[in-house]
Amino acid sequence: MSQRTQHIAIYGKGGIGKSTTTSNIAAALAEAGYRVVQIGCDPKSDSTVTLRGGNYLPTVLDSTRDGGRVRLEDISVVGFKGVLCVEAGGPVPGVGCAGRGINAAITLLQELRLFEDFKPDVVLYDVLGDVVCGGFAVPIREGLTDRVYVVSSSDFMAIYAANNLFKAINKYAPSGGARLGGVIANGLVAPYARALVDDFAGQTGTRVVEYVPRSPVVAQAELYGQTVIEASPASAHAELYRALARAVLGDVEAVIPKPLSVNDLRNWARKWGDLILKDEQIVAPATAVLSAA
Ligand code: ADP
Ligand code: MG
Repeated sequence: MSQRTQHIAIYGKGGIGKSTTTSNIAAALAEAGYRVVQIGCDPKSDSTVTLRGGNYLPTVLDSTRDGGRVRLEDISVVGFKGVLCVEAGGPVPGVGCAGRGINAAITLLQELRLFEDFKPDVVLYDVLGDVVCGGFAVPIREGLTDRVYVVSSSDFMAIYAANNLFKAINKYAPSGGARLGGVIANGLVAPYARALVDDFAGQTGTRVVEYVPRSPVVAQAELYGQTVIEASPASAHAELYRALARAVLGDVEAVIPKPLSVNDLRNWARKWGDLILKDEQIVAPATAVLSAA
């Protein structure tokens, strides 16, 4: 549909909702007629599970391990509305670097001419972002992706992981690495959650592209083994994911974020620690958003 394939990476701390968010974006884009590839770059290898109805999908690393020739159909499954699903995979537990699968997967997919032959409009990379070690930084580093988004809740550990990702983007962007499209605020529950994530985004020179409250609709879809787009297409959350998908694909101005130093991040967190107990003002806008969603 678009002129050129857009490569978009979605990072975030483990368990923060990367795969849920990425799969719903993929499903929303596919539903709107785009050709989509989703590549799970997390050793957990469950990125695309809600797009493929639980169908078995060998990982790239597992398939290449025995050294034989691998075909695209061995390491991909066509899922919901034609989304092509790939899982990079991880090392044998306890052995080797967990980021190795990403390199192996991307190299193999390039060799198999996936991007030329499948001609996707969008390739989504779902990348574990706790540790931005060599392997996990590949999508940022080598001009592979056009834009990066980070999924974060209002929990400090999620913010901390986002700030570390910003450090990696900041380091590689001047030499042709990817820039940041923004923050996807997910799993918001606390009344102050929205204001806190907004403030972090403001402090680091970026913005929040969408706010996704915590919802049983998401949990239910996961239990059905589906995305929200498939399981509850008429729900408010499905609309949120469609809006997010449009925003992620749209003509956003990506930036080089300004990560906080260890000390500044600590001081910022402490300030919020005081605020959330003291200042009733801070809860007002977030409460309004949660009840509207
Ligand atoms: P990650 O890929 O970052 O490790 P997942 O996408 O697998 O995280 O999400 C972890 C868990 O949180 C899953 O059980 C998922 O259903 C749940 N989850 C994620 N986002 C939401 C949300 N907005 N509301 C409710 N549950 C959510
Ligand atoms: Mg995941």
